[in-house]
Amino acid sequence: METIIKKIDRNNIDQESIEQAGSILKQGGLVAFPTETVYGLGANALDEEAAKKTYAAKGRPSDNPLIVHIARLEDLKEIVTEIPEIVQDIADHFWPGPLTMIFYKNDKVPLGTTGGLDTVAVRMPDDEIARKLILAGGGYISAPSANTSGRPSPTTAQHVADDLSGKIEMILDGGSVDIGVESTILDLTVNPPMILRPGAITKEMLEEVAGEISVDETLISENSTKAPKAPGMKYRHYAPKADLIIVEGEPDESIKAIKQIAYEQVRLGYKVGIIATNESIDQYTTGMIKSIGSRENEKTVARNLYKVLREFDEEEVSYIYSEAFPEAGIGTAVMNRLGKAAGHHVLQASDITRLQKYRRIVFVSNSDNCRAPIAAVLLRRQPLLQEYQILSRGMIVLFPEPLNPRAEELLKAHDIVLERFETSALDEKILGEDTLVLTMQESQKQKILSEYPDAGDVYTLGEYVGNMQEIASVYGQTEEQYEEMYKLIQENVVKLAERLNKEAKNKCQTYT
Ligand code: AMP
Ligand code: MG
Repeated sequence: METIIKKIDRNNIDQESIEQAGSILKQGGLVAFPTETVYGLGANALDEEAAKKTYAAKGRPSDNPLIVHIARLEDLKEIVTEIPEIVQDIADHFWPGPLTMIFYKNDKVPLGTTGGLDTVAVRMPDDEIARKLILAGGGYISAPSANTSGRPSPTTAQHVADDLSGKIEMILDGGSVDIGVESTILDLTVNPPMILRPGAITKEMLEEVAGEISVDETLISENSTKAPKAPGMKYRHYAPKADLIIVEGEPDESIKAIKQIAYEQVRLGYKVGIIATNESIDQYTTGMIKSIGSRENEKTVARNLYKVLREFDEEEVSYIYSEAFPEAGIGTAVMNRLGKAAGHHVLQASDITRLQKYRRIVFVSNSDNCRAPIAAVLLRRQPLLQEYQILSRGMIVLFPEPLNPRAEELLKAHDIVLERFETSALDEKILGEDTLVLTMQESQKQKILSEYPDAGDVYTLGEYVGNMQEIASVYGQTEEQYEEMYKLIQENVVKLAERLNKEAKNKCQTYT
């Protein structure tokens, strides 16, 4: 089947296209269309055959009921047996909009549409294209998300085409949707009404209008053994090709943890994706980094969620690490969808960050103009599994100077150029728990320990790698002695990298 794709300008909706799409629906065909939540796959909700086609096109299990979309409140009473009193107030506030309500159905609604249930889910969308199409199609349009079952819900017409091209009659392209996550589902067959799926209309918003609202316990506890009340919520919904892992914690701690993981995973040879925010994106350095939106405006996070997940599926990354969002407002729906996509694989940021003991390594020589900068540059060239700030410092540096010319020559002979280098004095500000200080000689170590009692871990380089030889100054000595000093530093640095990596490696497993 050739799928017709029609662009619709929502400021000037072409009635002819709407009529064409409406007549396809009336004849039992399938038309995908934009709603304010996600794109829907429309069919005549009162036609059992059309429902069958919907399940077939999506590859959706047929026990997962469809939501019936209406455009006028008065149409509701035609398909349900009773409307609880509270519905009027709820509808006044939230319809048209991203809220689905569940009622007992009457005989007009076929069991094929409700997945065999005696209840029916009904929504009145706000999107003008959707409303016009519903009326043109006969007033009752079932519309599950217009994706292949198991893929992220579509938020653009292109997403729909990617999944359903050739399987449905028509796609109305009204551009990107506004909200980006599916509607809130509220069950009105129970008292108090119960939220079966979180969405843009939050519990707090509903309670302001309707008093007490309960929440399906399977949404609150991930390890509930009970089946969710909305049959569709039992499916993992969308499982990205990559392992998606949510890293929870204070934003700064989470960024630190994700950076740490990404650095290590990339060095182990994995392709890693990072779900960042506009606020954090510049802080990440390794991996494939995508912003999902702004923490200042969480609506943007909901809007981009499925798009970003689809993009990562195309990139074929092995792991995706995502920042977490506060479970309030639209964040509840975002975390619900993200959690399902991750199979509830969540790591605590602080559990990760405490696995990296050192974040800074400082080499110390007398004047920071030969041995220490050589050690630093050589360590930077080692394949390290964890990311460190690698510095060199001197015990006595009165003013910044360039590298000693002999050291510069020596490095050049090994094809190394140290650009924009200036000597610096050791300063207490860079010492601390996460810093490993490695001196060239015992005398420097002793001096640091006595001058800076809070310095943290201070060793001679040789001592730290189990090679007791000191690295003495070769100032004013022969070329051969410079070369020997270089070799000794190189040997020690290779062993240092091995030790650091060995300690890191044991920990990397915990990240996946
Ligand atoms: P979708 O149309 O893809 O947003 O999925 C519709 C969701 O509504 C699924 O999670 C369904 O299980 C849920 N749903 C539809 N009808 C009912 C109903 N009568 N009772 C409970 N949940 C329903
Ligand atoms: Mg869906």
